[in-house]
Amino acid sequence: MSDLPPLRDVIRRHGLSAKKSLGQNFLLDLNLTGRIARAAGPLDGATVVEIGPGPGGLTRSLLTEGARRVIAVERDQRAIAALEEIAAHYPGRLEIVAGDALEFDPNPLLNGKPARIVANLPYNIATALLVSWLTTEPWPPWYDRMVLMFQREVAERIVAPPGSKTYGRLSVLAGWRTQSKILFDVHPSNFVPPPKVTSSVVEFIPRAEPLPCHTRGLERITEAAFGQRRKMLRQSLKTLGIDPLPLLAATGIQPTARAEEIPVEGFVALARALAIQSSAEGS
Ligand code: SAM
Repeated sequence: MSDLPPLRDVIRRHGLSAKKSLGQNFLLDLNLTGRIARAAGPLDGATVVEIGPGPGGLTRSLLTEGARRVIAVERDQRAIAALEEIAAHYPGRLEIVAGDALEFDPNPLLNGKPARIVANLPYNIATALLVSWLTTEPWPPWYDRMVLMFQREVAERIVAPPGSKTYGRLSVLAGWRTQSKILFDVHPSNFVPPPKVTSSVVEFIPRAEPLPCHTRGLERITEAAFGQRRKMLRQSLKTLGIDPLPLLAATGIQPTARAEEIPVEGFVALARALAIQSSAEGS
């Protein structure tokens, strides 16, 4: 690792001036990237999928912390040459995928073996990526843990319990399929360039057996309920195009309750009742 040049030199040599359109805020402090890599550890023998390696600070740490294989997906063509230098330093351990993470399917590269997702995510697509990983099929998923950096405000929405102001669709989806917690915060001054807000590293452990329900139904219910979060469910669920009262009666949820009071199990029950009601109406 010490043989690799400092990250500032790498950025200068490869013309990696940060682009806002690609959500680029780089971490140049290898102590900090080491801390993130260790949070996803132990990595000995592990396969890690890293999204948006950029100049490769976190990538280096994942490799020095012992990851046997890192699959790094990067959209910025300018970063690829920088990453190839790291790959040459760790023969056979770093695979660079030049492309869009939103279209990346890791399964053909994994041969059924579990991987870990570790990333300082590009903020503009962080939520979309997280939702795609939380709704992936089949379940249990292709990853056995995720350690991801988000803006603090997004991290709070992910881990929010029912009854809190930040509890919403993301909290329900994350809580349904994973156990998540904020591990630590990262101050804006740790990034180049510094973002406006504090960031947080969040850990997700997939639940082996989440309560059974169809992802699409759960998404429809939470979209309707939180789309008008201040309204009572007997009103907000009307946007589903069905009569909400039988749905609420079937689940024992008060028609006067509001979305933010309903725990994950309640939303799962509603999604299941919706599937039954829809198939009865369709038949
Ligand atoms: N991991 C590096 C670090 O910690 O210094 C860079 C993190 S930076 C917040 C986000 C990275 O994601 C950038 O390198 C950016 O080019 C990359 N990126 C942005 N959009 C992407 C996409 N759709 N697919 C893959 N990578 C993307």
